[in-house]
Parts: sequence; structure tokens; C-alpha cells
Amino acid sequence: MTQKGSCHCGRISFEVEGQLGDVIECNCSHCQRKGYLLWFTGRDQVKLLTPEEDMATYTFNRHVIQHHFCPVCGCAPFGFGKDPQGNTTAAINVRCIEGIDLDKLTRIPYDGRNS
Ligand SMILES: [Zn+2]
Repeated sequence: MTQKGSCHCGRISFEVEGQLGDVIECNCSHCQRKGYLLWFTGRDQVKLLTPEEDMATYTFNRHVIQHHFCPVCGCAPFGFGKDPQGNTTAAINVRCIEGIDLDKLTRIPYDGRNS
């Protein structure tokens, strides 16, 4: 199943392959501020429909995750990184996916603040 997503203004548009499952709600200083609800999948499941250069990128801490956001409207639809095995991963902010009912998703709390 293909999920479509975008930032608010549409400068960043993308598709993700796969069935949306449980989402991670992390309380670290970054996720909490942005209100991320994250769905983790492989980077190769994500197809960008807009040029990569159009995205702004934020990194912090160990700088292993590229948190992409829209320089126009400020929405942050996903971040790309690597898992401990070295595979490239994507963390999709499901708030930026079209037509989903957030109340139907199970939120798994993650204590990022203390890990
Ligand atoms: Zn935008």
C-alpha cells in the first residue's frame, strides 16, 4: 500500500510503501517540541516526489539523523538515518501523511529524554 505525504505548502511531497503500524511518540527535547509521531521504515520505502535540495535539514547530538523540514512552511515530514546494523532508515512523521486518522493509531511511548 502506498501512503502519500507532504509538508503543508507542498514543497516537500513523498510516497511511502507499506502498511502503517504503531507509531513512536518520543519525549526527547527535539521530538517533543515538534510533536512527531514516528513510523520507522526503510529509506528505500520512501520515494521523494520533489527535489532533495528543496528540503532544509537539521541535525543535532551525534548528527546521525538528518531531520528534514520545509524551509517555507516549517513542517517536518521525516528524518533519514542508519540503524545499528548500518541500514538506511526513515522515520516518517505520520502527521504529514494524507488521510489518516491519528486516533486509530497506537502510540508507543519512547523515553528518548533518558536514553
Ligand atoms: Zn512546506
